[in-house]
Amino acid sequence: MRTLFPLGGLASLWLAATVLAAPASRPNILFIMTDDHAAHAIGAYGSRVNQTPQLDRLAREGMRLDRCFATNSICTPSRATILTGKYSHLNGVPVFNRFDGAQPNVAKYLQAAGYYTGMLGKWHLGSRPTGFDQWSILPGQGAYFDPAFFTPEGRKVIKGYATDIITDLAIDFMKNRPADRPFFLMCHHKAPHRPWEPDAKHQAMFAGKNIPEPETLHDNYATRSDAIRECTQKVFQDLTRRDLKLEPPAELKGPARQAWLSTAPKEVEIEENGKKTVLTGDALNRWKYQRYLQDYLACVQSVDDNVGRLLDWLDAAGLRENTLVIYTSDQGFFLGDHGLFDKRFMYEESLRMPFLVRWPGVIKPGSVQDALAINPDFAPTFLDAAGLPVPDDMQGRSLVALFKGQRPADWRESIYYRYYHDPGHHNTRAHYGVRTATHKLICFWKTDQWELYDLGRDPAELHNLYADPAQQPLVAKLKAELFRLKKELKDEDQFAHAQPPPGVDGMGPPP
Ligand code: CA
Repeated sequence: MRTLFPLGGLASLWLAATVLAAPASRPNILFIMTDDHAAHAIGAYGSRVNQTPQLDRLAREGMRLDRCFATNSICTPSRATILTGKYSHLNGVPVFNRFDGAQPNVAKYLQAAGYYTGMLGKWHLGSRPTGFDQWSILPGQGAYFDPAFFTPEGRKVIKGYATDIITDLAIDFMKNRPADRPFFLMCHHKAPHRPWEPDAKHQAMFAGKNIPEPETLHDNYATRSDAIRECTQKVFQDLTRRDLKLEPPAELKGPARQAWLSTAPKEVEIEENGKKTVLTGDALNRWKYQRYLQDYLACVQSVDDNVGRLLDWLDAAGLRENTLVIYTSDQGFFLGDHGLFDKRFMYEESLRMPFLVRWPGVIKPGSVQDALAINPDFAPTFLDAAGLPVPDDMQGRSLVALFKGQRPADWRESIYYRYYHDPGHHNTRAHYGVRTATHKLICFWKTDQWELYDLGRDPAELHNLYADPAQQPLVAKLKAELFRLKKELKDEDQFAHAQPPPGVDGMGPPP
């Protein structure tokens, strides 16, 4: 079919026919997305650092996707891709650009087909949401405590903790939905995005707790290109005093700031046998990792509790059977892996999105799928689940067959990735690359530096094989595949040097 919007003439006739043909029991779709939640901080994905009983429940009652990847591992671009089913170069959001809300998006298609649509929580696309019957969004990154929200009626502040509040809003949305329409709800948490500010209850669970270190925390970057050495997202060097909670939040002013500072440590010290020692060197580095993970994981723990609240509410309301529930994150995150925090790179911890999905009667409980999935697939999946056709200009493919435990014979065997923001935050170099089930080729094209990894033998991606003479036939094959994908997906370097427009980083209020 052709693109539906603007709706008119034949498209309207088509749509009317589509709605009439849709099955009576179209499923509700609850899409829960967090910000920067790495799969390796979820029990169902084998976490060594935390336990997530509610997310594990979702995996147990549904399916875990093991190879789901962001095509541009950063907040705003991933969100634009999820809404449009298109890569960054076709939806106009390669970096922190303002999303053009006039373009088609999946919420508009679902709304036009009779779905009651909602967008609650972190939006981060700079423009007003379009295609939603109800929306209430955090301005920019939003605040963890007493967050403000923008709504069609204006700005309002809600007292409390963001993760709890966004869940409350989601439950209210579902409770008050029109009884005769299925719903599509995007419930987007701020957590666990920097600056990792947990509520007191969950902070207490991790205070003083020793978190296992990743094996690559002290990675020396031998064999890798310059990009990883040059980036400024290193746990030991680049976490700020604010990140480490050695300084109060910027919004704390006047006497409150003075009170905070009067009790805060100037340096990091430990006390043993009555003797205080100021931490330096390796001991200080290791403390930074602990401090970072304690706060990050405490934010995740609140998410886990609140996912449980949503599942409990659906079950109690009798909506369990006919609601497709997805949990994902806009991209992955480095949890000290390779000595890093943040995302952006095509390395696994950043590239991989957690994806847990429950759909009783369709998905076999406790199943796992390892076919290659990407975030442009999400919009086609929502449409397919709703019994609607997928527009030709969407670049992803419905995951519903994968949910059923099938893998179509012509399913993709490689994925294309492109990160743009260079120079940008954290000095991460622009790159593109291709990943197959077994290998990954990355090109930092500005410097013509390449990396090749054998993901089976070297899952931690420590050994760049690009210069290995024995690997040259594979290098040639993967290069050909990279440029085939680039062409097929219509990436003509339209945004090769993309930078956010001055003053726009997706942070501001919707105009
Ligand atoms: Ca993010």
